Amino acid sequence: MNPSASIANPGASHQAEAGAGFADLHLHTLFSDGTFTPEELALKGAQLGLVAMALTDHDTVEGCPRMALACRNWGIEFIPGTELTAEFDGHEVHLLGYFMDVQQPRLLAAIKKFQAVRQERIQEMVARLNKLGLPLRAETVFALANCLSPGRPHVARALARDGLCGSMDEAFERFLKKGRPAWVPKYKISARDAMDLLHQAGGLAVLAHPGLNHCDRIIPHLAGAGLDGLECFHSKQTSTQSEYYLALAQRLNLAVTGGSDCHGLSKGKPLIGGVRLPAVYLERLKQARRG
Ligand code: AMP
Ligand code: FE
Ligand code: FE
Ligand code: ZN
Repeated sequence: MNPSASIANPGASHQAEAGAGFADLHLHTLFSDGTFTPEELALKGAQLGLVAMALTDHDTVEGCPRMALACRNWGIEFIPGTELTAEFDGHEVHLLGYFMDVQQPRLLAAIKKFQAVRQERIQEMVARLNKLGLPLRAETVFALANCLSPGRPHVARALARDGLCGSMDEAFERFLKKGRPAWVPKYKISARDAMDLLHQAGGLAVLAHPGLNHCDRIIPHLAGAGLDGLECFHSKQTSTQSEYYLALAQRLNLAVTGGSDCHGLSKGKPLIGGVRLPAVYLERLKQARRG
């Protein structure tokens, strides 16, 4: 337990020494496809003794005000963020945005468009599932998602809950994974435009989980196009991959970030706590903001 954020005494925290302790900079709540509320997530962070947390819900910043408040109660530094799905040279990449002004009209207008695309995609995926004989309704998925950024995990959850699939994993494997019969390609903003959007909103752009992308050769090009950082530490990346991306970040002069990519209970045990980013990296990320 972090002595600076006593569970028995929320609010009675002191400012953590800059660069000391651990952070988690990749987290989802039920404002996208996670299952925790911002308050539940902040509590988990406090229990784990985190000194800083970033909320990076897919295509939304809606949970940030609540998460900011919840983190403040525990003496945890909060970094507003989001995770945008973008495209670079034919590859899907996820870009983590940090420190944006979450009220900037241009950012909010773009997010609204991404969310409309997500909602249309749900309709299309459900139509395909119906053609395959599965009696799922889009309204069921929207009701279950209960958020503006619905995604495939919500379709998978609905299929599993209604007994149309044995599990979420089965739903992805049989229907929703890329190339499967109910998979629908998603409109994606170009990575250049996404980075511009984040920068214009006062934020930084970080390449999420590069180890899952299988396109390392594009990283130098992203760096040349304005990328600020690389997510070197992630639940699904091995320590060998972390070492590789740490060296690459150093070579390309990119900031280093890390996070659990916790989606709550949607994929079994919550991942929060599994990745503990030394907070000194957060200080360097902030320097990238100034530099
Ligand atoms: P979408 O943004 O709608 O394309 O959905 C992508 C989300 O689906 C990401 O957050 C992934 O973490 C999640 N996802 C991908 N594969 C699976 C899987 N097999 N089981 C559960 N979630 C998955
Ligand atoms: Fe997700
Ligand atoms: Fe991602
Ligand atoms: Zn994520």
